[in-house]
Amino acid sequence: MNFAEQLKSQVDIVKVIGEYVRLKRSGASGRYIGLCPFHQEKTPSFSVNQTRQFYKCFGCGEGGDVFQFVMKLDGLTFPETLKLIAERNGVPMPQRSDYTDAESKLKAALLDIHEIAANVFRDALRAPQGSEARAYLERRGVSGELVETFGLGFAEPSGQALVRRLAQERFTAEQLEASALVRRRDDGSHFDAFRGRLMFPIHNESGKVIAFGGRAMRDEDQPKYLNSNETPIYRKSSVLYNLHRARDGMRRSGRVVLVEGYMDVIGVFAAGVKEVVASCGTSLTNGQVRTVHRHSDTVIVNFDPDTAGANAAEKAIQLFLDEGLHVRVLALDGGLDPDEYVKQNGADTYRKKLDEASTYFHWLADRARARFDMRTSDGRMDAFKFLLEALKKVSDKLERAAIANDLAGYLGVEPGLILEQFKKSAAERRTPAAAPAPAGPSIPAMEQMLLNALLASEEARVEVLPQLGEAVTQGFVAREIFQALGNLAASDAPVTFSGLHGRLSAAGQGLLHQAVAADEMIDDALALEQARRCVRRLEADLKKRELDELRGRVKTAEREGRVEEALGWIAEMEKLRRNLEGSRVP
Ligand SMILES: [Zn+2]
Repeated sequence: MNFAEQLKSQVDIVKVIGEYVRLKRSGASGRYIGLCPFHQEKTPSFSVNQTRQFYKCFGCGEGGDVFQFVMKLDGLTFPETLKLIAERNGVPMPQRSDYTDAESKLKAALLDIHEIAANVFRDALRAPQGSEARAYLERRGVSGELVETFGLGFAEPSGQALVRRLAQERFTAEQLEASALVRRRDDGSHFDAFRGRLMFPIHNESGKVIAFGGRAMRDEDQPKYLNSNETPIYRKSSVLYNLHRARDGMRRSGRVVLVEGYMDVIGVFAAGVKEVVASCGTSLTNGQVRTVHRHSDTVIVNFDPDTAGANAAEKAIQLFLDEGLHVRVLALDGGLDPDEYVKQNGADTYRKKLDEASTYFHWLADRARARFDMRTSDGRMDAFKFLLEALKKVSDKLERAAIANDLAGYLGVEPGLILEQFKKSAAERRTPAAAPAPAGPSIPAMEQMLLNALLASEEARVEVLPQLGEAVTQGFVAREIFQALGNLAASDAPVTFSGLHGRLSAAGQGLLHQAVAADEMIDDALALEQARRCVRRLEADLKKRELDELRGRVKTAEREGRVEEALGWIAEMEKLRRNLEGSRVP
């Protein structure tokens, strides 16, 4: 057994993936489902099979073993993945030289450089030259313990401290420059990219330092906040500040607090709310929103109360609504940002405010009230129309109606007018209701295997779907799904999980979820063979049923003395039997 196999046998895929995706046990033992981290979805089509130690998504087709999962999600090479999983599970690694290629060598060097840099910055904060930064932290009420927890540091103004330290290691000039922590002068010499700044290390989801944010100590140093440029280990659009510390709390509480800045994260964290993250000096992206959704269903947006903050909040909220999250908004009084608010009013008051944060719609209604003339009925109607756009994004019909009613009361708009607006917008857009999981019939194993095979492989669909005639599917529990799949495959639309899902009744969707969650296929290449075997088996079952029926007819005919007829049925049976021998399931 090589090291990779040995490691794989010692880790549990459910535990590893469970750190990235909220998994729910599903039905039979050893199966778990959750929202796919590789594509955007609102109903789970991502399943993890503990017995077989693999994962599979029927939305986007991603699938594989524990290594492939971590490689794809963390953007690591195979050797890095081995190292990460081995470290986390306390399995000793063989010499690194066993696993080297150019890309993983560079990434490993960059991680090393960042670790060294974090130490250099941390030491400088404690040293005499860090006094200005220490004084700033003290003014902001950041305790020594928090400095430790967040690994804060100081980049000294000379621009030589880090370069000098890195020169003692055997990094190449390319590696240094690729780290974005070191810059190159025309004469080929190097200097530190961060100078005279308070340093906030930024970690990836696994807790490794991959970048820094630096806050200027003097007004003349611009910009106030400077962030690392992107590198092979730092992709801004998918990283959230503090995620590696927040994710346990996010999964436990089912919520996350999104704030704007590093100091806000530290302030809120210090108030005992561990489930807090921030985007790193960029506006929120889809990738970050999806990352949030992997760990929690509810987001509480707590941005600065100024105009820029409110506008950024509004944009972020739209992204969260599109992703299907519950959104609440915390607007703090006194024009304070979260960090200042905690300092002035205490942790308890802040936590209480957080628990009471109003839904997104009430917050939006308040903004509408400020924008329109609420003394006239026209103004009130305009305010309501302003809310309608966001309201349309609530996919659950009942929930949407309830919110609309609530908002009408809040804004003082005639309920009759609301209803009218609603019918109009409902006619414009038909949203499939969020799929319930009814405790209805369950899908038989053979149908389930066939369905999964057909979903996985176009080859299987082309060959096998035409063989699924009326007669074969007649007795199917999931007949609706096979018919819908047949129609979908015959149309121009691509065959996707969501495409199929959208064509089904609630009952059909329930069966589809069962089938997908129970999928056991390891390799798409096997899908065609699996589909063929299923069809042969199902056809054989059909013939057996026909045989039984014929047998019944023979008996009746014999009993009633119609010998000739009985012989006719027997000949019929012989024919069927021979047919059956010919198509015996291997
Ligand atoms: Zn997927």
